[in-house]
Amino acid sequence: MGQTLGYAAKSTTTPLELFSFERRELREMDILIDVLFCGICHSDLHVIKNEWKNTIYPVIPGHEIVGRVQKVGSGVSSFQQGDLVGVGCIIGSCQSCDNCKDHLEQYCDKGFTLVFNSKDPKDGSINYGGFSKQLVVDKSVALKIPKEFKEEELPRVAPLLCAGITTYSPLKNRKVGPGSRVGIIGLGGLGHMGIMIAAAMGAHVTLFTTSSDKREGGKSLGANEVVCVTDAARMNSCLGTLDFILNTAAASLDLNKYLRLLKRDGTMCLVGLPPIPHGALSADSLINKRRSLAGSLIGSIKETQEMLDFCAKHHVLAHIELLPMDRVNEAFDRLIKKDVKYRFVLDVANS
Ligand code: NAP
Ligand code: ZN
Repeated sequence: MGQTLGYAAKSTTTPLELFSFERRELREMDILIDVLFCGICHSDLHVIKNEWKNTIYPVIPGHEIVGRVQKVGSGVSSFQQGDLVGVGCIIGSCQSCDNCKDHLEQYCDKGFTLVFNSKDPKDGSINYGGFSKQLVVDKSVALKIPKEFKEEELPRVAPLLCAGITTYSPLKNRKVGPGSRVGIIGLGGLGHMGIMIAAAMGAHVTLFTTSSDKREGGKSLGANEVVCVTDAARMNSCLGTLDFILNTAAASLDLNKYLRLLKRDGTMCLVGLPPIPHGALSADSLINKRRSLAGSLIGSIKETQEMLDFCAKHHVLAHIELLPMDRVNEAFDRLIKKDVKYRFVLDVANS
């Protein structure tokens, strides 16, 4: 496709820098996308710092992508030039295992292909993510951006492609709805989407935060209650009250402290992926009241389309700070300090 530009990290210690690279020629079912906006997820931070010990340098992060179709391959009829599309973490999977057949390609037995920091299974080239001007993907992984979203709202749509689906999927699968009492741990990119989506599903939502200054922010997003986790009296008042807890914290914590907030048969689902393991689990935290501990990984392509349609219907959009691409290092520095309300999004097209 020719040369394009992105921002790449070349090691754990060096800042991201402008990087020129080649996008592949369009295959029959490919589409070429001009990237408009790309969100910055804490997973991008884990990867550039090699905190999960699997980074392939140089790495161009970015997996919350909104763009416009520039060109389509010869076999593509479902998209045309000018269409608005979204691309998230998943850009391919085996399509033959039981999980893929069940439309759950995030759990593909062979491992799905990530939009960045992974290898293309066909030619072995390295996949570079959305902090770049152009992207080439198979049309089957491109999501349709619902018409209800206005042009000026597109930067706020980008974070739905990871933060939105990662919170929607477990909330939906646990049948959260009116009458459910849901706890969200952590008010960051995922946490703020979790609050808004759980509230839109009709749940009573309690935010658990380590930051005492996030009370008003949590409430304005739709949390009915905000509990600072260092407030022992408030934590005690929540014991045994919740049906479901979504743990989005990017750091390890004492899971027992939160499991005890669940009612009988309640579940805590982990989505945060801290590089350091959580503290030891006490069997008593689960056995007492028959509680469960679960996990969830992003969501499937089909479910991501469903989530976009849900967010369009309920007018759920991320709260963001839009920055030009050349300020990407400042954004990562501030993300480390938890200084973001609540997602940075890169203005790729205008950078
Ligand atoms: P984020 O914007 O940085 O938010 C993380 C939140 O965790 C913080 O705002 C903070 O909330 C809480 N936290 C508590 N202690 C912390 C500490 N020591 N350091 C940093 N944060 C701390 O991150 P995110 O983008 O929402 O991602 C959250 C986690 O989910 C990351 O580990 C990410 O890799 C993971 N993730 C998983 C999936 C999946 O498929 N399972 C998908 C995307 C991301 P308070 O200030 O309110 O306490
Ligand atoms: Zn992410």
